[in-house]
Amino acid sequence: MTQHLMTIDGESRDSSNRFDVINPATGEPFATAPEADAVILDDAMAGAERAFRSWKLDDDARRDALRSAAAALNDAIPRIAPLLTQEQGKPLNEAIFEVAGVGMWLQYYADLEVEREILQDDDAAFVEVVRRPIGVVAAIAPWNFPLLLSSWKIAPALRAGNTVVLKPSPYTPLSSLAMVEVLNRALPPGVLNVVTGGDALGAAMTAHPTPRKVSFTGSVSAGKKVAVASAADLKRVTLELGGNDPAIVLDDADPAVIGKQLFSAAFQNNGQTCIAVKRVYVPERLHDAVVDALVAEAERAVVGDGMDEKTQFGPINNRPQFDRVRALVDGALSSGARAVAGGTALERPGYFFAPTILTGARDGTAIVDEEQFGPALPVIPYRDLDDAVERANATSFGLGASVWATDTERGESVARRLDAGSAWVNTHAALAPHLPFGGFKWSGVGVENGTWGYKSFTDLQVVHRRKQ
Ligand code: NAD
Repeated sequence: MTQHLMTIDGESRDSSNRFDVINPATGEPFATAPEADAVILDDAMAGAERAFRSWKLDDDARRDALRSAAAALNDAIPRIAPLLTQEQGKPLNEAIFEVAGVGMWLQYYADLEVEREILQDDDAAFVEVVRRPIGVVAAIAPWNFPLLLSSWKIAPALRAGNTVVLKPSPYTPLSSLAMVEVLNRALPPGVLNVVTGGDALGAAMTAHPTPRKVSFTGSVSAGKKVAVASAADLKRVTLELGGNDPAIVLDDADPAVIGKQLFSAAFQNNGQTCIAVKRVYVPERLHDAVVDALVAEAERAVVGDGMDEKTQFGPINNRPQFDRVRALVDGALSSGARAVAGGTALERPGYFFAPTILTGARDGTAIVDEEQFGPALPVIPYRDLDDAVERANATSFGLGASVWATDTERGESVARRLDAGSAWVNTHAALAPHLPFGGFKWSGVGVENGTWGYKSFTDLQVVHRRKQ
């Protein structure tokens, strides 16, 4: 059996404590991961701090190393993707896509041309804004896209000259251990380290004196704790947190055209996507037709073990999340909503839940107001578009939002009124390495990706040379 180990300062490292990793398709442990203690965390931070001294010096060397790391990772897809499916639950083809995505992000940041920012160059002075790496970055990741979301931190942070200590979620440690081991074949020791453990390890990272930046993706509640802990030491933070994305269907939309896309925008990765559509507002006139289109998709969906190639939707990733989705759906049903598709867990081992479409759920119920992060979607009728926009915006979240329309310009004018970091028309969750991504309100602080993501891993220095 493979021994899954941490990589610290370029070396493989075990721990005297190991914790179980559960396969959500069975609900049973299938491997163990090392649990980092305070000594191991100190070693990781010290290794990253040492490596920073030389890593920050040579941008061309960093670009080359990131390119080689991307190539090494692409070669390792057949080894890493099944591990991701086993611990995360997602279908193998989506796991392959996720690992390949990491390669894309590394390649994008290796190739990124960062324009010089010369503010003044005249007889009096030469003034330039220079981007300086911050130092050691503590990168903390969730379990829904453990590798891809880590790469949104690793790739820009390393390109900018920082070094990184990564902590994956305790639900998905193995694919990250494998990924870092592979990336380290192309990186100098200490540049990228990985420690595994639970939430307390994340808190220990934010309290640790070494990192100068914390880049966190996860829940709003943990994100607030990270912000408080980081503030105590004036660490820089980027927080990518939860969402409750609305989709507003306009009265000229064709349900037959949008049904499939809307369904996949809500149920991709089994709804466990920060920017999944989590509530749909539909004009009363189109309500039944949109519901019918979504139900048809839900009934066609093949739910099963991600290792089975027929599977389109795997299990929910972990027991607490499974229980939460079940409680939210039960709560909606007992307050008058109807499950027109699904509505229950599947009668089989593992954390399987039927793709669920709910009608009659009202604003003010938990399934509408909170982030369900699972395969259950409420469809809510509206009479007046202004009212729908107001209800869509009446939330503490502000990650993504979308408008679905035949007249796309009118759709765009509505999208511009939505309070969300990304507002899409006739699509949702359209992400790419060059597009900035972040949330309004409780959905986050700062952005990732593109040049914005790169700059978030730098301090801005003004170099001012007087000429006279
Ligand atoms: P989580 O907040 O429970 O855990 C995320 C990570 O933070 C884990 O590694 C965890 O161990 C660690 N952690 C927990 N408490 C911590 C603390 N006090 N200090 C430091 N680290 C701590 O989130 P999750 O359940 O793994 O992920 C699901 C959540 O993440 C959802 O709310 C989802 O919307 C959000 N998410 C957001 C984005 C985005 O880009 N905005 C992307 C994916 C997921």
